[in-house]
Amino acid sequence: MKNKQIAEIFDQIADILEFKGELVFKINAYRRAGRAISELAEDIEDLWREGRLGEISGVGKGLQEKIGEFLTTGQIAELQELAQHVPSGLFELLSVQNFGPKTAALAFKELGVETLTDLQRVLQDGSLAKLPGMGAKKVENIRKGLEFRLSAEERLSIGLVVPIVDEVVAYLKKVGPKIGRLSPAGSVRRGRETVHDIDLLAETDHGADVIKAFTDMPEVTQILGAGDTKGSVILNDRVQIDIRAVPAESFGAALQYFTGSKDHNVHLREIAKKLGYKINEYGIFANDKKIGGDQEEAIYEKLGMSWIPPELREDRGEIEAAQQGHIPQLLQQEDILADLHVHSVYSDGQLTVAEMADAVRARGYRYMAFCDHSRYANYANGMDEKRLLKQIQEIKALNSKMKDFVILTGCEVDILPDGTLDFGDEMLAQLDFVIASIHSGFKTNPTERAIRAMQNPYVDVIGHPTGRLISRREGYDIDVNAIIQEAAKTGTALEINSYWDRLDLSDVNAKLAIDAGVKISINTDAHHPEHLPMMRYGVATARRGWATKGDIINTLTVDELKKWQKRNRIRT
Ligand SMILES: [Zn+2]
Ligand SMILES: [Zn+2]
Repeated sequence: MKNKQIAEIFDQIADILEFKGELVFKINAYRRAGRAISELAEDIEDLWREGRLGEISGVGKGLQEKIGEFLTTGQIAELQELAQHVPSGLFELLSVQNFGPKTAALAFKELGVETLTDLQRVLQDGSLAKLPGMGAKKVENIRKGLEFRLSAEERLSIGLVVPIVDEVVAYLKKVGPKIGRLSPAGSVRRGRETVHDIDLLAETDHGADVIKAFTDMPEVTQILGAGDTKGSVILNDRVQIDIRAVPAESFGAALQYFTGSKDHNVHLREIAKKLGYKINEYGIFANDKKIGGDQEEAIYEKLGMSWIPPELREDRGEIEAAQQGHIPQLLQQEDILADLHVHSVYSDGQLTVAEMADAVRARGYRYMAFCDHSRYANYANGMDEKRLLKQIQEIKALNSKMKDFVILTGCEVDILPDGTLDFGDEMLAQLDFVIASIHSGFKTNPTERAIRAMQNPYVDVIGHPTGRLISRREGYDIDVNAIIQEAAKTGTALEINSYWDRLDLSDVNAKLAIDAGVKISINTDAHHPEHLPMMRYGVATARRGWATKGDIINTLTVDELKKWQKRNRIRT
């Protein structure tokens, strides 16, 4: 599908127009169309062939012609033309948070800033700060944005990496020679939100053959190394994967060793030393005699502790807990009975309520909640009360036809800039489930607004509480501790939004919330069925936050959830 490419081009045209100071309506037309195309479920090429491009919202005659031009010639002449008069690194520059097209234009004209390196220079020598309209706060925000951008560059989101790992594992199992256990190690196995590269371990006595099958994979664009026990490649010019072939007798030790984290392993080695043992990737040794290595569990056992789930291995107290036998029974994917934040065509989702419910149900859940956007989110086709009432009716009709599955009515109600909610209590009281989220005015008292929202008896969950986007922005300037305190006080749950670029709350914040007795709701925020499997990233994040089944409201049955809701607790 060329949907993403076309959406990106429209976004780039909008960026350039904004850089050049063109009229706002022209810029917005491209932005709106780009957004609609990126969220399109159908292949845009099909729509074009069938003469149905006009069905995409915001795509008028002129833009239809541009789409046609791209699908015929592979480019859009307007973009080529526009791109001649802007800095070569404009799009890279604009990926820096707090550095918008207008500032970019000023920095280009006055200081010749064309690349990230240039930006770094004018920040360092103070010349950016001297430009008109550049306050100290603004410059500081750009500096932070650039730092964040440069650090994000080196790591890939787990949501992009895990599907690749799954494919490679499936491929090797099918094509490779006699492989026993085959597992990712490193930060992928620990479920970290971003990873630097992928480490795989294969149990085999035929190392060279496995490495050959690995380096022969069709997606390999560069072979960095290939031997009898180790292979290293770049897949699709994008991500580095290393594989190690290990005999059965040291597979457990190698898995432990290469899973890390570094801090966890350093701490373990200290303990081993005190006990007179040595541990490395080949096994655990007492006086040079190997006493274990086949099973990972045995290594921990010999060190006097219970096995530690990989997600906890960050040396954040898990070793002490394991020594005392206090490692919690972590949440598992199977414990999740419901996805409670799903969108439909009633706002900016791709499928109808019935279609999306089918897709959710097919994942084995027992119930779900539709939480489409409220009217203030007009960029996302937010619902007014009339449409919301219509959706409630549609859901009721569907529920009456279904056995073994329940759809809760709901809404992702906007927390407005003044801290009130987009719908009044009368409307909210008609819904089964309510998520309140901040989608705009990130700089306008987000903490106070979220706190006020939690004081509403109908608000069950605060959606994506910090607003961060892992690849793009750090999130609202929010006081997480204050949010957690209020959530505990009011009995409001905080969300772990499972979308790979959000994972919000993060692992660390989720642990803070859980330690304070706050319940967590893990949801996909799916706008398309393809998003539903991302629940696993939310579950991994929760596990990294030491979450047990009891901490997560998605593990409750519908009846238990109703009993938990503060609106019902308050009444009794
Ligand atoms: Zn949202
Ligand atoms: Zn949402």
